[in-house]
Amino acid sequence: MKDFPYCDIRFADIQLLRYRVPGFEALPLRQKTLVYYLSEAALAGRDILWDQNCRYNLRIRRMLEAAYKHMKAQGTESEELEAFETYLKRVWFSNGIHHHYSMDKFQPGFSRKFLEEKLREMGYPVEEDLMEVVFNPEVLAKRVNQCDGQDLLKTSAMNYYASDVTQAEAEGYYAGIKKADEAHPVMYGLNSRLEHDENNQLVERVWKSGGMYGKTIDRIIHYLEMAQGFAESEEQRQVIETLIEFYRTGDLETFDRYSIQWVYDTACCIDFTNGFTEVYGDPLGLKGSWEGYVNLRDDVATRRTKQLSENAQWFEDHSPVDARFKKTECRGISAKVVEAAILGGDLYPSSAIGINLPNSNWVRQEHGSKSVTLSNLTHAYAEAAKGSGFREEFVIDEATRHLLDTYDDALDDLHTDLHECLGHGSGKLLPGVDPDALGVYGSTIEEARADLFALYYIADAKMLELGLVPDAEAYKSQYYSYMMNGLLTQLVRIESGKQIEEAHMRNRALIARWVMAHGSSAMSLVKADGKTYLHIESYPAVRNLIGQLLAEIQRIKSEGDYEAARRLVENYGVEVDPELHQEILARYRTLNLAPYKGFINPRYHAVRDSSGNITDVRVTYDESYEEQMLRYSKDYSYEC
Ligand code: ZN
Repeated sequence: MKDFPYCDIRFADIQLLRYRVPGFEALPLRQKTLVYYLSEAALAGRDILWDQNCRYNLRIRRMLEAAYKHMKAQGTESEELEAFETYLKRVWFSNGIHHHYSMDKFQPGFSRKFLEEKLREMGYPVEEDLMEVVFNPEVLAKRVNQCDGQDLLKTSAMNYYASDVTQAEAEGYYAGIKKADEAHPVMYGLNSRLEHDENNQLVERVWKSGGMYGKTIDRIIHYLEMAQGFAESEEQRQVIETLIEFYRTGDLETFDRYSIQWVYDTACCIDFTNGFTEVYGDPLGLKGSWEGYVNLRDDVATRRTKQLSENAQWFEDHSPVDARFKKTECRGISAKVVEAAILGGDLYPSSAIGINLPNSNWVRQEHGSKSVTLSNLTHAYAEAAKGSGFREEFVIDEATRHLLDTYDDALDDLHTDLHECLGHGSGKLLPGVDPDALGVYGSTIEEARADLFALYYIADAKMLELGLVPDAEAYKSQYYSYMMNGLLTQLVRIESGKQIEEAHMRNRALIARWVMAHGSSAMSLVKADGKTYLHIESYPAVRNLIGQLLAEIQRIKSEGDYEAARRLVENYGVEVDPELHQEILARYRTLNLAPYKGFINPRYHAVRDSSGNITDVRVTYDESYEEQMLRYSKDYSYEC
């Protein structure tokens, strides 16, 4: 058997890893076939995301890929060609022309003349508007702008709203259709683009079969229908059927019904997500970016998360938040550890390592949610990090390094479990509070809430009692690495001169800086030989502050206190000290590491008999990044 190919593909600020799916080989044919069809459905929606990210993305990708193939066939090498390849690889990685994390538009390292010449050589039309978008840095400069005080729609390049829709118009529109005090509100705006009709009235163009992205959605439906025949249970078959109904009708009540059925379907080994899911790509936090993935349960590791979810009520009862904001009855927080089998849409190539869904507040409150930790992805990350020199550079002393080396891999997984299966699932809104009341700060506050819940409990004696940590010291490694990241090392992901934009990064900065500001004797930044380090004097005092902040963040969420959310995020989560930033970037550069990582998918091959029935599904791991991207563009592009 061939060894698992080591993968160290690097370009720009990216490192690509491969992940294995060890559990796949052992599955019976029926389940392998289910994975196969669900994977096809997860790959089929790729172009929806590209178009959501920016309305020029698909045309630009087609142009770039055509030019790329032409240049490869010519076989001549040049510096400009190299810069062109890097640009294309970045565009592929980000599902568009804006950086997947900073949201800034990429600046090509090759000239407009170079690209135009290549296009003319091959008789490909040179389109003025595309050239402007690619080469003029002023045009569509940012995918999602979060700057307080500007028109967030007018200044964002995302394609969830037509370019002539203002933020005030969109907010007015959604305020108008939301009904007050609705017990079971749908996820308004989740699956549509907002635009003006011919009478200049705002209308939603719905993403459904026969609607916007209809051809792509029809392919997704086709693969879901194929998958249905191999479902593991009647419940799972029903889940897929309701999802198909949602894709056919675009009806958001059907979507909630699907979410509820999906939450209760916990017995199956194979599970999936497919649809309009996370709202980080919309400055107003309403529209779901398309994503899909498939997973298999990792039974050994799942025992760990089972213990957490079985004790969910205990954690809720003992948390430091006000009793009015607690759930009196925690239900159905199901948590498991899984292996990712395929990543698609907004989860590819850059993926989350923990996922908790659905996102509808009332569905979560009344029916619970499903939470997963993706063990084969965290394993790939941990392998890539070994021997990188990172801890030697940034951790304050040998004793602390030893602490991290001993505990941190295991504690990171535990933190993710706590964040996903207890943190997001905890707490409740007061009656009548609009779940979107925190507006642009909603995502950051929600992530902070889940992280604080995890940080608070990772230090609790209950962890030891449940056998989830090896000893009473272990939590310190997580406190140190979390705070070091929030205060110092996550800055390596931000370009010089920029502020913190992304919700998870804002949340980490907010927590770490707030704790330091309120407990300077417990935790501080110190300098040695011109380098800044985190020093933690008292871990119990840090925990105490984490509990206080958790109580306040839960209050903000439960009461929908927009002003307090704005103050916390703006005061602690956004700004970057330029001097410290320069220092961290310089130290990081000496390590020659890539700040962002992503994954190349495995490839599934269906073996069929003469009548077309699948007789085996094989998995291979040897496709290159370029091959995979070009294949996806060829095989999963349906819009024109
Ligand atoms: Zn989260």
